[in-house]
Amino acid sequence: MADAKNYSGGCHCGQIRYDVTTDLTTVAQCNCSICQKRGALWTFVPVEHFALRAGNDDLADYQFGKKTIHHYFCPQCGVGSFSRGTAPSGQEMVAVNVRCLDDIDISALTITPFDGRSL
Ligand SMILES: [Zn+2]
Repeated sequence: MADAKNYSGGCHCGQIRYDVTTDLTTVAQCNCSICQKRGALWTFVPVEHFALRAGNDDLADYQFGKKTIHHYFCPQCGVGSFSRGTAPSGQEMVAVNVRCLDDIDISALTITPFDGRSL
């Protein structure tokens, strides 16, 4: 992560808040069935680069299909600001919804298609 920076983010109502260190040079737009509906843009980081600051006890979890990914969302405002899963390598990963980071100019990002539908 050559251009890794520190960001803060969370859900809409503020109940869920986190800090993350990531490189937003490219962000992923996934075509799987849930991302298609949500319109999320993702950056993927190892768990060590993610710190949940508020809302751990409030998270609602949604799982489907192979149930390998926890699609968390805030039960108050409904926003899914991050998810957790395990990479094929066995590494525990966090997928952060880039749209939920503070002060992000989405139009300035390079968006790369991610074929989650085939997983
Ligand atoms: Zn919320």
